[in-house]
Amino acid sequence: MQHIEEQDDPRVIVDRLMGQTCPFCDDRRLESEKHKGSQAVVCEGCGTPIVQL
Ligand SMILES: [Zn+2]
Repeated sequence: MQHIEEQDDPRVIVDRLMGQTCPFCDDRRLESEKHKGSQAVVCEGCGTPIVQL
């Protein structure tokens, strides 16, 4: 899990996480997704939300 600075622009956070590998699946990548109206980054494999903005 990465430390997220609260003052960071959400788009910067998403950009930083996109394309990185899931810490739980190891070989699956993260993708951005709208979750209940807010932006989230989830694993494409296990669906674990890595960060919700
Ligand atoms: Zn995963």
